[in-house]
Amino acid sequence: MKEKKKQRGRVDAVGFCRSCNQEHYLPTDPALDPAFQLIKTLKNKGRIDFVLPDQQADPGCAVDYLWGPARGKMFGVLVAQTPSGEQVILRAFSGQYNGRWQVPGWVGPVFDCKAFHQVHDEEEKAIKRLTRQIDQLVPGCPERQECIQQRKKKSQQLMREIHTLYRLRNFHGQAAGLQKILGSDKGVPTGTGDCCAPKLLQHAALQGLTPLGLAEFYLGKENASGCRQHGCFYSSCRTKCYPILGFMLCGVQQLTKEAEENKRW
Ligand SMILES: [Zn+2]
Ligand SMILES: [Zn+2]
Repeated sequence: MKEKKKQRGRVDAVGFCRSCNQEHYLPTDPALDPAFQLIKTLKNKGRIDFVLPDQQADPGCAVDYLWGPARGKMFGVLVAQTPSGEQVILRAFSGQYNGRWQVPGWVGPVFDCKAFHQVHDEEEKAIKRLTRQIDQLVPGCPERQECIQQRKKKSQQLMREIHTLYRLRNFHGQAAGLQKILGSDKGVPTGTGDCCAPKLLQHAALQGLTPLGLAEFYLGKENASGCRQHGCFYSSCRTKCYPILGFMLCGVQQLTKEAEENKRW
C-alpha cells in the first residue's frame, strides 16, 4: 500500500492494536516545530552527528549521503515528557545511516547492538564467501545451484535470528517479539521495526517517557517509486509500522491524558 503524501492535516503515527481491537494514535502537531528545527540544523551543519564538535565529525555522517546512490531517508522526532514534567526531544533516522546503527545525538535501533553483531557478523561473512564462490562457478552447474540454495537457507536463518532480537515495548510496560505482534501465521516484512516511529517509541518506553507527539519526514533524493520527496512529512507507514505501532502505542493515550492534566495543575 502506498502512503499518501499529506502536507496538511493529520499525518499521525497510527497502528492497529490486536488486543484492544482498535487503532491507537499519536499526533504529529506537538513534534512539528522541533522537526523543522532539526531540518534547519541538518541543513546548516551538513552532517547528522552535529552534537559533536567539528573536529570529531565522522565523514560518513555527512548529509551528502542522502543525495547519493543510496537516495534519501526518513527522519523522525518525538516530543516526550519526563515523569517530572520536563520536555525532551528524541531523534531517529530509519534503518542504518550509511552503515551505522548508532550515531551520537540519535536513538539507536530497537535491539541491542552488541547482540546484533554477535548474531550477524560471522554469518554475514559466511554468506559473502558463498557469494564469491557462486560468482566463480559456471552458471547452471550443479555445484553452483547447491551454493545458491545454501546461501538462501543461510540468509533466511540469519533473518529469523535477527528478528528474535526485536523485543518491542509498549506503555503498559509489556514487551513482545515481532512474530507475536504480527500474528504467527504471517512472515515479518524486511525492515519491520527499523522505521523512526518504532525506534523513538522504544526508547521513550525504555526511558519511562510519555510521548506527546511524533513527526516523520523525508530528506534527500526522492526514492525510486517517487512517493517520498525531500522535506515532506508522512504518516507512519502502513506495511511495516501499522501492525507494530498498534502494540507500541497501546497505553499511550491514557498516559498523554494524565500528562496533560498534570500540566494543568
Ligand atoms: Zn514504518
Ligand atoms: Zn491497545
